[in-house]
Amino acid sequence: MKLLVTGGAGYIGSVVSAQLLEAGHEVVVLDDLSTGHEDAVPEGARLVRGTLRESAADVLGGAGFDAVLHFAAKSLVGESVEKPGLYWDKNLGESLALLEAMRTAGVGRIVFSSTAATYGEPESTPILETDPTRPTNPYGASKLAIDTALAEYARLHGLGGVSLRYFNVAGAHGRQGERHAVETHLIPNVLRAALGEGAAVRVFGEDYPTPDGTCLRDYIHVADLGRAHLLALEACAPGVHEIFNLGSGTGNSVREVIEVCRTVTGRDIPVEAGPRRAGDPAVLVASSEKIRARLGWKPEHDLTAMVSDAWTFLRSR
Ligand code: UDP
Repeated sequence: MKLLVTGGAGYIGSVVSAQLLEAGHEVVVLDDLSTGHEDAVPEGARLVRGTLRESAADVLGGAGFDAVLHFAAKSLVGESVEKPGLYWDKNLGESLALLEAMRTAGVGRIVFSSTAATYGEPESTPILETDPTRPTNPYGASKLAIDTALAEYARLHGLGGVSLRYFNVAGAHGRQGERHAVETHLIPNVLRAALGEGAAVRVFGEDYPTPDGTCLRDYIHVADLGRAHLLALEACAPGVHEIFNLGSGTGNSVREVIEVCRTVTGRDIPVEAGPRRAGDPAVLVASSEKIRARLGWKPEHDLTAMVSDAWTFLRSR
């Protein structure tokens, strides 16, 4: 298939682009390089530099694309609270420009990078796709609005759409890995501390109602996550919008993650206790039963493999 990958110079978009090329697809990446990296775009993919608003219509028009995989987004929760307008504009506004460009060009399939942040503070665990969506920040709210727009475009324009709601993505896939200028995520920060870069790892809260007092999160390897996109692409059906959670179905605590990082790196990682981070729920674990049952997807890599691949990637740079 001929595929447009928006945000293909970013972490997850670059991994999925590589996997699509490995599967024999033709890949064009559209990315404004605001947070992505030109050299993260895998060899064999063509890069068009631009925003969706400026360039989606030009790239898609008359070019015979079969589908779009949409990753381009702003994704920092804290920044979204400080600048909600930026998140509505970049995430929802630019996505609407993309959807209109697809409609004009007659491209009928999309796989969208949604997020666990659409659910907000869960009422029960593991989280099901049918659970209430009550995002607690503009990042999650803007992603949820895109899910809603996709459902409407499916209902009213016959679009075939799949939203994949990611939980905690980690690891690397060959040359593609996590390279955020502003890094807020636990595993890359712990591994940077293991490298001796930066300060001790701060554990955000040890008084949660969990077995060791630290937050539980559902970690998923980026290569497993990527495979789900290829399955979702095949499963897009005209007029239907489907939502699937993507996680491993189990939770690991912050303390457990740090211990795995110590084992994998063989280094003594300095850790200090800190206060809770605003907006962090105690437990965020996905039910991935729907995607297992419907698309036959299951994770193949455990937390040790995620940390190990992220460590190899970090040291290669
Ligand atoms: N966390 C931490 N120290 C850090 C970064 C994260 O204790 O330097 C905790 C955070 O409070 C959360 C978990 O690690 O409980 C995962 O956070 P991350 O930012 O990686 O992902 P999130 O779950 O927020 O999407």
